[in-house]
Amino acid sequence: MSTPSQEDYLEAIWVLIDQKGYARVTDLAEYLKVSPASVSKMVRRLNGDGLLTYERYRGFSFTPHGRKMGRLLYARHQILERLLTHLRMGSADEVHATVEGIEHHFDARRLDQIEQLVTYIDAHPVWWDQYLDSSKS
Ligand code: MN
Repeated sequence: MSTPSQEDYLEAIWVLIDQKGYARVTDLAEYLKVSPASVSKMVRRLNGDGLLTYERYRGFSFTPHGRKMGRLLYARHQILERLLTHLRMGSADEVHATVEGIEHHFDARRLDQIEQLVTYIDAHPVWWDQYLDSSKS
């Protein structure tokens, strides 16, 4: 299994803060299935990059730029999950795992194209069902 990237950390911090109102090193380690030492190392790196503020004993939070990045990375993940779910590419867990593998390759412009398609599918459910029926071998 590959090491969670900086993007995965920012996305995970966004999710944790959204769910619980805060994110701690231990929460993040559990969520990303990595060691607390790895989390601390990345938190310091993200702090150095201006994406998190970090205070010893008080933990960390987003800078405005980090918060914006986290929100965009989470939105990217969700758009790709919607596409794979429409394509019936497995259970929710399987879709999540697949998106974890591919999401880093979609820049904003490519993501816009995917989002337009997903929005079109949502607006044309009959058309999409017909497509799915026709694509079954
Ligand atoms: Mn993700």
